[in-house]
Amino acid sequence: MPSYDFLCRDCGEPYEVRLSMSAYSAGEGRVCTACGSDNVERTLSAAFVVSGGGSHRSSGCSPSSGFT
Ligand SMILES: [Zn+2]
Repeated sequence: MPSYDFLCRDCGEPYEVRLSMSAYSAGEGRVCTACGSDNVERTLSAAFVVSGGGSHRSSGCSPSSGFT
């Protein structure tokens, strides 16, 4: 089951919920666990790791390899 990271816009508290895809698309989990506000935004944490943290990617199928 994937986990989703959210950030509460009201209290600024980040939180993470584990939801099934269907539960997520149904809108579940979008309530702050700290203050109960539904004024939250989805944040991306480990899902979007910026490449270039030391280990070179093997140039397999990336079309644009002019990164450096
Ligand atoms: Zn909150």
